[in-house]
Amino acid sequence: MTKQPIDSILIVGGGVCGLGVGWRLAQAGRPVTVLERREIGPGSLPAATWASAGMLAPHVEAEPGEEKLLPLLLESHARWPAFARELQEASGVDVGYRTEGTLVVALDRDQAERLRFQYEFQRSLGLELVWLSGDAARQREPHLSRHVVAALYSPHDHQVDNRQALLALRQAFLAAGGVLRERATVAEILVGNGEVQGVRLASGETLHAPVVVIAAGAWSATLPGLPPEAQPPVRPVKGQMLALQTPPNAPLLRHVVWGRDVYLVPRKDGRLLVGATVEEKGFDAQLTAGGVYQLLRRAWELLPGIDEAPLIELWAGLRPGSRDDAPILGATSVQGLILATGHYRNGILLAPITADAVSHLILTGETPESIRSFGIERFHR
Ligand SMILES: Cc1cc2nc3c(=O)[nH]c(=O)nc-3n(C[C@H](O)[C@H](O)[C@H](O)COP(=O)(O)OP(=O)(O)OC[C@H]3O[C@@H](n4cnc5c(N)ncnc54)[C@H](O)[C@@H]3O)c2cc1C
Repeated sequence: MTKQPIDSILIVGGGVCGLGVGWRLAQAGRPVTVLERREIGPGSLPAATWASAGMLAPHVEAEPGEEKLLPLLLESHARWPAFARELQEASGVDVGYRTEGTLVVALDRDQAERLRFQYEFQRSLGLELVWLSGDAARQREPHLSRHVVAALYSPHDHQVDNRQALLALRQAFLAAGGVLRERATVAEILVGNGEVQGVRLASGETLHAPVVVIAAGAWSATLPGLPPEAQPPVRPVKGQMLALQTPPNAPLLRHVVWGRDVYLVPRKDGRLLVGATVEEKGFDAQLTAGGVYQLLRRAWELLPGIDEAPLIELWAGLRPGSRDDAPILGATSVQGLILATGHYRNGILLAPITADAVSHLILTGETPESIRSFGIERFHR
């Protein structure tokens, strides 16, 4: 049994959720250890944070049926500018926060009709969006296909470089005094007498702690030792993506652009991300010819200028999808066992509020109002 300080906290998973919560706890002076079975960075794939596109887009992504989730998304969205600044200052890493906004484009009349429906729904929620003609869209983005007949412009849907943000969180967490153990696989959550007692690592080492946070992304439900009532209903949802290189000084796009079943995200260094498939394939994270073909075909339809762009990376990641697509945040019926998982396709957007709210709960014992309806007990009613 490795001796830990009496009030120490263990966090399982070194993605945006685990490191975000860990950073806030370390800042508050609590002894906190993040346990990550891989190395944070490219080696963490298919973990979702490295695989992600980093869009902070609650407005254009608002869908019928997700009205309950929207206030949480908007609140986290509002926290991002300050979060990005603080993270940059604490880590010295530029997280690539960009505010040009997002365009959703239609390539034919069918798509324009659908877009009009989406526009009306999103406006009915009070979201600020502007309807553009095809020509007006091309004035904003001259390389868009001449087939674009209409578009939505969303000025407040921004983006961050999720990979830089993850590296920044790692750095900020360590600088605040957090302990990070990479290549440390949690093999069992130790629970006894209705309380969490710590974890056992695959190496056989046991770590004792009165608080354990489950932030293991798509793997959160598979951790041995979790009693059924504390097991978050989370499953992996695969997303394939790719990156093209465009000249940083003459990028093909400045805005994030959405089309039918595809989005394009331009980065400061000229990389143009093309994403993403949505597949229910369990823990299979293989790239497929069909997946990559569909992404390239749809991207090319929107932006024919990518024809000559070097294809520099292909990858797949596993989103932690919950039963209702909303995150699972807060306490469980096991004393000291806390959940920060199930963020599905919004984990980067939800990073600031997850970090703030879950750390607040651990530090004060109080669940903030903002996350009260996102506890695991909603699945037990
Ligand atoms: C293709 C794709 C595109 C996306 N695009 C966006 C987007 O544009 N905007 C947005 O907001 N969100 C997006 N998402 C979703 C977002 O990336 C996730 O919701 C978020 O990253 C989840 O973070 P996490 O920390 O919960 O999980 P992860 O990043 O998956 O981290 C979990 C970590 O736990 C570790 N782990 C698992 N089991 C163990 C164990 N037993 N012991 C120790 N460590 C363990 C894993 O190795 C992993 O590093 C996207 C996701 C994908 C896949």
